[in-house]
Amino acid sequence: MVRYSGEVSHQWARRRLLADWRAGKVARDTVCDGDFRLLAASRFHGRRIERHCPICDGDDLRVVLWIFGDSLGKMSSSARSVEEIERFADAGREFTVHTVEVCPDCHWNHLLSAREVGP
Ligand SMILES: [Zn+2]
Repeated sequence: MVRYSGEVSHQWARRRLLADWRAGKVARDTVCDGDFRLLAASRFHGRRIERHCPICDGDDLRVVLWIFGDSLGKMSSSARSVEEIERFADAGREFTVHTVEVCPDCHWNHLLSAREVGP
């Protein structure tokens, strides 16, 4: 188990964005802007979750874990499995884990939370 020293939730921003989209204030292109790298990562590293996509209602919604931090060197800003993150945490590295929701079908994506790993 990875012990996190802090967490910032982005659920409120997600709900607000979806409300704006439903109200027609935000274009679908804007909310479904997942780039190639994120979509590829969601297919390779993503974990499917028991929810439908809030945009296209597809059932292939996934969460991807991205890691950032100077202590990671060239591994910073890449998608990683839970096992890899545990290994980096056990090695005493300090970094941030972004949990990102991604729909590979319509390219919807949103940051759910940012968590700190480290002492
Ligand atoms: Zn979708």
